[in-house]
Amino acid sequence: MDKIEEIKKKINELGPVHPGTLNPQRNRCGKLNCRCAMGEEFWHGPYWQLSWTANKKSKTRHIAEEELPEIKKRVENYKTLKGLMQELIEVSCSLSLLPETKEANVEDKPSG
Ligand SMILES: [Zn+2]
Repeated sequence: MDKIEEIKKKINELGPVHPGTLNPQRNRCGKLNCRCAMGEEFWHGPYWQLSWTANKKSKTRHIAEEELPEIKKRVENYKTLKGLMQELIEVSCSLSLLPETKEANVEDKPSG
């Protein structure tokens, strides 16, 4: 199988994806007689929060305990997808139809 088809097949086989990072959050409920009033190590949680950027806006969503395994899987799938896409782009670029453009005239000038 050609490399591009192989990558496309892997992308096809990926389940749902979700960008972002999962962050644990802990907090106090505020009740004086609750164990969380005794110190940070007794705070409630962790509660999971998923943060990502969509259309240049940062988004946050609380993740329920029972959603966590599925969300972890989707975040993992997203990373895999990005890796596969990068690979696909690299393979595609290496299959140039035209002779390579000479880069002799392009100089790296330091900016500023
Ligand atoms: Zn509490």
